[in-house]
Amino acid sequence: MHAGIELGGTKCICILGTGPDDIRAREQLPTGDPAATLAAIAEILTHWHSAAGPLASIGIASFGPLDLREGSQAFGSIGKTPKQGWGHTDLVGYFSNRFAVPVGITTDVIGAALAEGRWGAGRGLRDFAYVTVGTGVGVGLIHEGRPLIGVHHPELGHVRIARAPGDTWPGQCPFHGDCVEGLVSGPAIKARCGVAGSDLPEDHPAWMLVAHALGQLAHILVTSVAPQRILMGGGVLTQRAPLFSAMRAQLDSSLNGYLDIGEIREGLDTYLVPPGLGADAGPLGALAVAIDTHWQATESTRK
Ligand code: ZN
Repeated sequence: MHAGIELGGTKCICILGTGPDDIRAREQLPTGDPAATLAAIAEILTHWHSAAGPLASIGIASFGPLDLREGSQAFGSIGKTPKQGWGHTDLVGYFSNRFAVPVGITTDVIGAALAEGRWGAGRGLRDFAYVTVGTGVGVGLIHEGRPLIGVHHPELGHVRIARAPGDTWPGQCPFHGDCVEGLVSGPAIKARCGVAGSDLPEDHPAWMLVAHALGQLAHILVTSVAPQRILMGGGVLTQRAPLFSAMRAQLDSSLNGYLDIGEIREGLDTYLVPPGLGADAGPLGALAVAIDTHWQATESTRK
């Protein structure tokens, strides 16, 4: 049995099992201050460890920014964050000190990407991108089956893009104004339109601007890491099937015939697609991290 912890900005989900078809237990709790929240999670895991275990590994998929550099002193810690009290919290250390099992960690976005690769719409692909559009815009890049991480996990939600013709709204990212996140995150849509995206009618002109910005992000992905597929999901895109035709059209017109690749030239319907796991991608991401960590620990023992 593996345990996954999805640590979100407002809630945490703990999950016990081996995959989407084998979830043995699931618990949700609010995210409060770090000491109380982590203690409550540890209590759940301790119970599972004795009642259903022993646990083989623990996986954490957390809000960021996280230090994920191998060999870094602060590996597995949360970085500078506006979230009260959580800055420099050592998540991996906390659980490693309490459970004698391998503990792995990645961001919530990369975790969801790993889950999509293992069980969802990225299955069988070595290289794909997973984009989530919700409170923020996150992009997880999987390269050769593993997350692509350099000196930091990629933050492609903050790329600057060509603006839609005539659109001069300044955007609302506190750092960049009109980066992708500043234009199309849930709070950005609300700031621009005065109502939440979920209350905007399907034919509202703001959706064309969302499609334009995400088409630009897809253009950047295609021309930089050239993924085998792009998955786009998250709260803003849920129940918005028509938006996918618009995003594909935007990507197609933006690329303007450059790159003569079959997947893109003829197969955009299967290239730019919604994810397969829906809202479960988050907790399943934590479980995927646990399984990967267990596998890596077993491999390194064998060596
Ligand atoms: Zn930004």
